[in-house]
Order: sequence, then C-alpha cells, then structure tokens
Amino acid sequence: MIKELRITNSLTGQKETFEPLAPPFVGMYVCGPTVYSDVHLGNVRTFLSFDVVYRYLLFLGYKVRYVRNITDVGHLVNDADEGEDKIAKKAKLDNLEPMEVVQKYSNGFHDVLRTFNIIPPSIEPSATGHIVEQIDLVQKLLDSGYAYEVNGSVYFDVSKYNTDHDYGILSGRKIEELMDSGRDLDAQDEKKNKIDFAIWKKALPTHIMRWKSPWGEGFPGWHLECTVMSTKYLGEQFDIHGGGMDLKFPHHECEIAQSVGSTGKPPVKYWMHTNMLTVNGQKMSKSLDNSFLPQELFEGKHDLLERAYSPMTVRFFMLQSHYSSTLDFSNDALTAASKGYKKLINGLRIVKNLSYEGNSEVEENSKQIDQINKLIDNCHSAMNDDINTALTIGHLFNLVKKINSIQTKQLSVAELGEACFKNLKSTFVSFVEDVLGLQEEKLEEQEGLLSALIELYQDAKFNKDYEKVDKIRGALKAQGIILKDMKTGIDWAYEE
Ligand code: AMP
Ligand code: ZN
Repeated sequence: MIKELRITNSLTGQKETFEPLAPPFVGMYVCGPTVYSDVHLGNVRTFLSFDVVYRYLLFLGYKVRYVRNITDVGHLVNDADEGEDKIAKKAKLDNLEPMEVVQKYSNGFHDVLRTFNIIPPSIEPSATGHIVEQIDLVQKLLDSGYAYEVNGSVYFDVSKYNTDHDYGILSGRKIEELMDSGRDLDAQDEKKNKIDFAIWKKALPTHIMRWKSPWGEGFPGWHLECTVMSTKYLGEQFDIHGGGMDLKFPHHECEIAQSVGSTGKPPVKYWMHTNMLTVNGQKMSKSLDNSFLPQELFEGKHDLLERAYSPMTVRFFMLQSHYSSTLDFSNDALTAASKGYKKLINGLRIVKNLSYEGNSEVEENSKQIDQINKLIDNCHSAMNDDINTALTIGHLFNLVKKINSIQTKQLSVAELGEACFKNLKSTFVSFVEDVLGLQEEKLEEQEGLLSALIELYQDAKFNKDYEKVDKIRGALKAQGIILKDMKTGIDWAYEE
C-alpha cells in the first residue's frame, strides 16, 4: 500500500513523494482564466482537476493556501508579444469598458465553477490589481541584467539568462532549436533575439489599457503577473504550481526564468500539468470552433450532443480519467458516466441512512471485514498514487456492492463490527463528497411528491390493485426513479 502522496512533477517527469516546504502549510498556485469570453468545458477540466488536488490536500490535513489568478490584462491574441490585448479587443467589439468585460466573464466563470461544485481558491488576485508589483519586478530584472529596455518596452534577455541558468528546464526546449524555428526578426523588431519575451510593452496611442511606468505608458507582459502574484501570496519559493499542459511553454517556462532571474531561486517545487479535453482527438479550443459551453451541455443544445447531461454527470465523467491523460468527449462516455454517478449516489444515500447496531449473537465475519478494509486502503492508495481518481472510483464501486449487500440484508452491520462499519461509512461519504466533490443532485421540491406517490403505491399493493402498482412504477421509471420493494418497506433509487 502506498502510504504517502506521490505526484508527477513536470519538472523531472517523475512521480515524487510530496513533501511540502513548510508542512503542514502548502502553497498552491494555478493559472486562472483570461476573462474575455465564456469558459468552455476544456477550461473546466483543468480547474476541476486542481479542485480535486486541493480537496485531497485538505483531506490529508494540510493547510492549503490556494491562489488562482484572473488574467485581466496583458494576454495578447496570439499568445506571443504581438497583437491586441484579448480583453481590450473584446471591449472594443462589444462597445464596453475593459473592466465591464472582465466583470462579466469573471462572474460567468464563478457561476460555472460553482455549478460543478469547484471550491473557490483562498485568494483570487487579478493582474490589473498588481501593476505596481509588476513594475517592481521589471525594474529588478533590469537591475539584474536579464532584461533590456528599447523604446519604452522592456524585454527579457533569454540568451543572457541561459548563459547563467537553464531556459527550457521545464519544457525540455533547447534554446538553439527555438532560435531556428518561427519567424525571423525584421528591422522594426525591438528584441535582440526572437526568443526574448516582453515583460513590459509600450502602449500605442490606440491601446486602451495602459499604466504609467518608469519607461513610459504601457502594460505588463502576460507571464509577469503569475510570477508577481505567486511570489506575493506564497513566497519566492512555494510547493505546487499548476495549469493546463498548453501553458508549460512559453508561459511557465518564462515564469521560472523571471523568478530565477530576479531571486536566483527556482520558484516551485512541484509543477503539475493537466492534459487536454479533446473532441474527436483535437484539443477543445475556442479558436478551433469545437468548444461548447457548460450551459449547452446542461441543456443538450449543441450539434455534438445527443442529450442533456447534468453538472455532476460531467464532473464524474472528468474524474473517470487521470488528469495527465487526454480525455476525449463522447456521448457514450457521458451516458456511461451518468450511470456511474448514479451508482455512487445510490450507495451514498443508502450508507448515510445506515447506523451501527450491535448484536451479541452475531459473530464478526473476518473475511468480509478484511475485504472491506482492503477496499478502503485501496481508495487511499489510488488517491495517493498521483491523484488517481479513475482508480478510486473503481474501488468505491466495489464498496457500493458491500453497501448494497448491507441494504439487502445479505450482510449485517453487526458482522462487520463497529470499527469496520464506521470506517466504511466515513470513508465512502468523505471520498465521494469531500475528495471527489460529487453531490447528490437532489430532486428537492419533488421529494414531497415522491413520498406521496410511494404511499399510493403501498396502498395499491396492499389492495392488490396491480394495474395501479404498475402504473405508478412505470411513471416513476420514466422520471429516472426505481422503486425497490425491500423487506423493511419501500425504498427508491436513481435508475443507473
Ligand atoms: P485560458 O483562459 O485560455 O488561459 O485557459 C484557462 C485554463 O484552461 C488554462 O490552464 C488552459 O491550459 C486550460 N485549457 C484550455 N483549453 C483546455 C482543454 N481543451 N482541456 C483542458 N484544459 C484546457
Ligand atoms: Zn499563469
């Protein structure tokens, strides 16, 4: 059994034992969204994966400071140092103030994440709220000699940095290869080398998002904000930095260069990257026009969707893959996820209603106790093994079988003994709800109606009115509810 948490560190490509710099405190930074459009399901996958990392660290008892930023300036349309700012472009297009765009899509982002039961971070700083600190960092990098100013813009000198340090340490890129690829510099270019990146850009007269700086009016480069905000809230060195795989280069590589260039220290102990949600094998992306919004999924309104899927079904679908593998969207997988989710929730409903009742005449069943204890261990081991949610779900399914046996009286709680029963109950509930973040999508206002129907069903059975019995069964089945005739009375479950 794996006793300690191991995570794959993108820096080494190895699974490493997680040892925080200053336990029990853990500092975790995840790159947040650029708030110029609605978040699509691909974005949700990344934030949901880190939600589970956060949840599991809390479950293990760590005191986590989780920082996830909002990018509201500096991210240019082509991800390099050219083109318009994404926010400013959208503001012009919709005739809005840039901050109206930022507010609108930040609100939308929060609404979506809440729907998926993603816990908000401890701090959610924004790039525009940290301009002063970004200017300070630019000055530090100029002072250290790793940056140079040209005509009001400041660039990071990658080759100079690479003579003292290792540019490419995270992504494995080689500076010579980078020099050979892409467009060559022309006469108008201000950079010394094409691999240099802007840390401060001079604002052209038409540029609306601009701030005063020692180099004239301008705006910060995209990579700068994350270095500044992670350092400010987590220190010069912290435990975990995450983001989608597509951010590894250049964004995270540049973050490392900025930190090492200004403090001399590597900023992050464990880099974690999530893999992409794909559609027919292609990354889901707004620019590829293959993305859909969570709302479209909930309503089933998109050409790619055969039906609607609930938020928890989608959450379950995402948890069924490892965060570092690609996950391809498909209706079949979502339909299977809907069944799997209901199986877990049925187990949850049953186990929450069970309580321990000792019986001096019943002997403990050591075989069952061993099996259940093993399954419980497996849940811990799977999560400890690089947050393997897919495997954890498999073990939880096996626990559901045991829970069902208790409900059908094939197995009694007395046979398990108090310790094993309580362990089963608390492990199951905490893994489903706290670690995986799955909630019962309650029928809520329909629950009163459901009990009324169950009462009618019971009366009909008592009166041997089988036509009515079938009718009620059929009507409830059409709503996804299965009636269960138990020795103890009538119960119901979600249809799996
Ligand atoms: P953006 O707002 O484009 O910077 O993206 C926000 C986050 O979503 C980043 O961490 C991206 O890496 C991540 N992301 C973007 N597309 C996908 C996708 N198809 N699958 C998983 N994560 C994605
Ligand atoms: Zn970032």
